[in-house]
Order: sequence, then structure tokens, then C-alpha cells
Amino acid sequence: MKKIILSCLLLVLFKNIAFSQDQLKVEGKVVFSNEDVVFHQIDEHTWVGSGHEMWHESLYLIEGSDKAILIDAGTNIKDLDKIVSSITSKPIILVATHVHPDHTGPSINSFPQIYINAADTELVPVFMGEYRGVVKYLKDKEIIDLGNRKIEVVYTPGHTKGSTTFIDKKAGYGFCGDSFGTGLLLLGVDFSTFIATCEIICSIMEKQKIKYLYPGHFSDGNMETASKIKDMQVLSKEVLSGNIKGKDNPDNTFGLKLAVEGTGYRIIFNESAVK
Ligand SMILES: [Zn+2]
Repeated sequence: MKKIILSCLLLVLFKNIAFSQDQLKVEGKVVFSNEDVVFHQIDEHTWVGSGHEMWHESLYLIEGSDKAILIDAGTNIKDLDKIVSSITSKPIILVATHVHPDHTGPSINSFPQIYINAADTELVPVFMGEYRGVVKYLKDKEIIDLGNRKIEVVYTPGHTKGSTTFIDKKAGYGFCGDSFGTGLLLLGVDFSTFIATCEIICSIMEKQKIKYLYPGHFSDGNMETASKIKDMQVLSKEVLSGNIKGKDNPDNTFGLKLAVEGTGYRIIFNESAVK
């Protein structure tokens, strides 16, 4: 019950939080634009959609020779299925980086099924309660073969328990949603779990030569890098060991009372995460 109340509060606050909604800056050709979303081309078979409702919430359309995946659906984008089908002719599978209203909002309703990380199941009634399609589950380390393009699923709990990153080894990049916060990480797990996530993703990025991860709110080149994630890991260890204490988070954002800051990012959390 407590969780449900917190999540409802989250939903309300999502709309009101004093985030800077700076002007969207994304390079690349515009392939679709309307009052809900604009899609820019990243490369020949990859596009990013920026929803207009919540800090340019990002959707990524990844096309192989047989099929495509849409990573996240934004907030409330009407006829999203038709929009993405106007960009790619391949059949599209919807997958989510995590279950939050700016990634799995009502836009998901135009899709018959969605793949999520099962660890976010507790958020489904709150943020996907209206969804009438089939909810399916991603597996850690599974490979989604799109035909001549393989995407690896990597669980990256941090922002939520079920946060997930998608890696395109061949392209040298990935897609991490809000797993590392895009400058402001709202920590939804404990620090030990997040530290393990940083370890896993940095090792994959190193081994597979992944240059960066496209975030859940992409604008102005704000991709996540291994060096920034390593930095977050070091800071998290300091918090866990008690060497660094969280300061009061004056905004009490989403009920998260404490904050620590690194270069170019903040982590906000509750005392219960320090374990
Ligand atoms: Zn989120």
C-alpha cells in the first residue's frame, strides 16, 4: 500500500517537478513531427523520438533487416503505432527500459504487447493499469535478433528495480532509459544494487567497445559514458561506506529526501538505500 501511495505521488509530481525543460537539441534529419512527438534520424536504421510532454522523453526505433524494436513509448503520443510504421516498414516489437509514465504512458495502448523487466511488475498496476495488451518479460542477457542486427538485453536496476539497458555491440552504442539518470538519478533501489549495476555495465561497455548509452531524456549530446558511470559508482561506494553523507534534498523530489552530487549529475535517494 505504501508503495502504491508513493507511486501515485510520483505520478503527480512528475508533472510538477522543477526540472529544466530546456529546448530540445537533437541533430539529424527530422523524419516525423506532430504536436506530440518529433523523430530524428540517428543513423541509417535508428531513430529517436522526443515526446513533448515530459522533458523530451525519448523513444528509440531500432531497425534490423527482419524486424524492429521500439524502446519506450513516451507519455501520451496518439497513434504511436502508425507513426513508427511510417518510419519503418518492418514489424515492430515494443520494449521498455522501465515502467514509468513517461516511458510506458498511454501511448503503449496502440501496441498489442509490450516487453518489460519482470522486476518492474509492481509498477504495472500504477503506471500501466489501463493497458489491455499482453505484458511479456525480457530476460537478462538475451539477444533480440532483428535480422543482421543483434540487441543484447542487460538488467540495470538503479532507477527502478526493473530498469533495463539495450546494447547494440556492432553499432557501439546502447540505450539505457533512466538507469543512470540523465544527470539526475532518482534512486529506486539500494546503493549496493546500483554499484553492482555500474560494475556490470562498465565491464560490458569496455569489452564490447560501447562508446555511450542513449538516455531516456536525450537532448544536447547528454549520452551516458562509462567514465561518468564509473564516477557514479565511486561516489555511491563513498555514500555506502559513510564517508560521504547525503545532504537534504530541498525539493524532496518524489519523496526522496537526500542528495549527493558528482560532476554533471546528482543522485537523490532515501536513507533506506544506504545498505
Ligand atoms: Zn523513470
